[in-house]
Amino acid sequence: MTRIAQIISGMPATDGAGVELNRVIGQPALSMLDPFLLLDAFRSDNPDDYIAGFPPHPHRGFETVTYLLEGRMRHKDNAGHEGVIESGGIQWMTAGRGIVHSEMPEQENGLLEGFQLWVNLPAEHKMTEPTYQEYSSKQIPLEMREGNVEIRVITGTTSRGTQGPVIQPLTDPLYLDVKLPRGSTFSEALNPDYNAFIYTIKGPLKIDDNPTTLMRDQLAVLNAGDEIVIRSMEDDVRFLLIAGKPLNEPVARGGPFVMNTREEIDQAFADYKAGKL
Ligand code: MN
Repeated sequence: MTRIAQIISGMPATDGAGVELNRVIGQPALSMLDPFLLLDAFRSDNPDDYIAGFPPHPHRGFETVTYLLEGRMRHKDNAGHEGVIESGGIQWMTAGRGIVHSEMPEQENGLLEGFQLWVNLPAEHKMTEPTYQEYSSKQIPLEMREGNVEIRVITGTTSRGTQGPVIQPLTDPLYLDVKLPRGSTFSEALNPDYNAFIYTIKGPLKIDDNPTTLMRDQLAVLNAGDEIVIRSMEDDVRFLLIAGKPLNEPVARGGPFVMNTREEIDQAFADYKAGKL
């Protein structure tokens, strides 16, 4: 049985050149959930909320994971890598020792909805070469279960053997996008040594025997357990189930850089200034 350790509602935040978003992990109520450093959720059909995008900025020491539910985002980096993430697509970027990239909406109106998750890298892999794992909606396996439960498997392997295309053995993440029709139930095995959370895209839902009902945009941090059962309380319930292996290492943050020590953060800023990223 899994218990809810904490329920978090995100904090409105502005990032990039003025993108309005909901910061769920990486804010005072939940500074991190090792190995997850940040979770931003964005959902708006008002272009003023997103059109400014994220002009060129650096990263070092971790991974940025962009999952789009609706809309199109163009990304471009200083090593010549460029592409468009479309509805249902994932970009898992290992920034490693550093890249400078931009992330801009490829649309002037309509709905833009999705998530950015930051996943930490262990100390000995923070200065690795940058890499990308990118998959369109069509390339992400869809596992169907009884009761018309739909599970999109981005990374990790479900208890029924569906494996997501993204591979990251360092933190061994599980990233599932689950749709539950009214009255249906989803159950899944969890590694009790990993940190895990549920993010409700559309509620209400209930977790195991917990009396609390989770509503839209609420995140539940889960206590260690080896199985989770989620029940939909209405039509078209949808949530993310994300879990990963904690690194248990010191974390030093400096804006777009996440390292182990303050000195390494200072070095990242110096390298960026010197054009070495
Ligand atoms: Mn970025």
